[in-house]
Amino acid sequence: SKRQGRGRSSCYTHGMLEVVTERVQLETDMRTAVERGEMYLAFQPVLALADDQVIGYEALIRWDHPTLGAIPPTRFIPVAEETGQIVPIGAWVLGEACRQIAQLGSEIYVAVNVSPVQFRSPLLLSHLTQALAQSGLPARRLEIELTETAIVEDGPQIARMLDAIRCLGVTVAMDDFGTGYSSLAHLRDFPVDRIKVDRSFVATAETDRHSMAVLEGITHIARTLGVAILAEGVETASQLQLLRDIGCDAIQGYLIGRPEPFAHDAFSQFGGADH
Ligand code: C2E
Ligand code: CA
Ligand code: CA
Ligand code: CA
Repeated sequence: SKRQGRGRSSCYTHGMLEVVTERVQLETDMRTAVERGEMYLAFQPVLALADDQVIGYEALIRWDHPTLGAIPPTRFIPVAEETGQIVPIGAWVLGEACRQIAQLGSEIYVAVNVSPVQFRSPLLLSHLTQALAQSGLPARRLEIELTETAIVEDGPQIARMLDAIRCLGVTVAMDDFGTGYSSLAHLRDFPVDRIKVDRSFVATAETDRHSMAVLEGITHIARTLGVAILAEGVETASQLQLLRDIGCDAIQGYLIGRPEPFAHDAFSQFGGADH
């Protein structure tokens, strides 16, 4: 009611005002962050366990705000999703990731995180084709990472979009696998090229036999389906050994390399080099 609404304003403490003000500032500053050169990409290596070779990199966005400092993506991506800014920012990430990986030559691929909001945007396909055309990167060397929340609603339309993306030759990974709702049903309904097991399973595998059982189970299912399996968040040599033992295809994590900008990139001088 109106009375309750008015009453609420008296509870509007200084702390809450600061939270709202900061959010508005993030929202506003985000609109110009790319053009001002405040955003850049960090790349984290993916190691294939068959031959211990780096086969790809995941691109992770970074924002060095002029006054607030480094703002983690977990803080600004949700704001970008709510305002729709994730669509132009995501387009920039795709272009920049393809451009930088194309410079590496070889068959190394780049994995780019695509938000559910981008995935539902009619612009995604043209952003993908533009990023590939402008960089000259072959489509097979671009992978998009989708979380399960991206594919929860509206089954048929999601399936059509996935088909269209894969027709371009771009591969699709299911990110944070096992953390969402009914992961296995999604695996059945939406075929993907790679499963990225969430790092929470890796973190607890050695101490929790249920985590270990889930890891083994997912690896077995992936092999049966002919889908590559990658474990995230590998921090220790014993975790690496465990993943080798159960037949995991590839890993990512601080043990192999932290996300950081490529040293060779001309633009990296404008970003921080220590993220
Ligand atoms: P994510 O896609 O699951 O990315 C993995 C996160 O785990 C990254 O955090 C990475 O730095 C971190 N990580 C990698 N190895 C390890 C490890 O061994 N141990 C631990 N504890 N963490 C590790 P980051 O870069 O802060 O990104 C957080 C999330 O923000 C990402 O989670 C992703 O959901 C989102 N994100 C990042 N960049 C983008 C982007 O360009 N677009 C979109 N839509 N989302 C992004
Ligand atoms: Ca990811
Ligand atoms: Ca992940
Ligand atoms: Ca995540």
